[in-house]
Amino acid sequence: MKSKVLHIVVAAGSGSRFGAELPKQFCLMNGIPVVMHAINALRQGDTGKVVLVLSEEMTGLWKDLCRQYGFDSPEIAFGGATRWQSVKNAIDAFGGDADVISVHDGARPLLSSALIARLMDAVEQGNPAVIPVVAVTDSLRQVSAEGGNSAVERKCFRAVQTPQVFAGGLLRRAYSEPESPLFTDDASVVENIGAEIFLVEGEPTNMKITHPLDLAVAELIQDRMRN
Ligand code: C5P
Repeated sequence: MKSKVLHIVVAAGSGSRFGAELPKQFCLMNGIPVVMHAINALRQGDTGKVVLVLSEEMTGLWKDLCRQYGFDSPEIAFGGATRWQSVKNAIDAFGGDADVISVHDGARPLLSSALIARLMDAVEQGNPAVIPVVAVTDSLRQVSAEGGNSAVERKCFRAVQTPQVFAGGLLRRAYSEPESPLFTDDASVVENIGAEIFLVEGEPTNMKITHPLDLAVAELIQDRMRN
């Protein structure tokens, strides 16, 4: 029997680091809002149902954007004060019986179908927690609370991306435990209940829009990917 797959796109952040009037996920990238690119990418290939997490006060704006750009909105769950709470709300609202659940940052518009296929394949092969990572290219330093710093071995580290894909039961169990300030992604939540995380090669182009310059870079990358 075919697995029931749920893709959760989280877009309930306030984007305070971005510094624009609108959170980054609603800013236009090559003519449509960033998060619509992310949803379109997940809809390609029809691998599962896509749902969107929005903060309640942004739903009016989102409906206007959908009308303006002729976009068919996914079903919506309301976000919480932290990313963890936003994901939990979506799991509670839509993830009760999903066999596989992926969680993707709405601020990452450039994920490819090939990456989604690599992640889904790894889950199907029996890995219950699969995430995309890329090598770090900058040198790294560890800073201490006391103000000191020291070099660390760059080859021992990876930068973590989304979508992160999980066996549904594992993700539901992980999110039934209390929230910790150490959780910055879903892999850290799942690791907290003892699960092993399987790493898959991510894509340098699968960047997270954080600063205004990222938007200009993402537009150029998308132009290159299309041509
Ligand atoms: O803040 P950060 O860039 O790590 O957020 C990653 C993703 O999580 C973004 O797409 C953001 O909209 C989402 N998020 C959320 N609810 C929050 C905080 C962040 O859905 N309370």
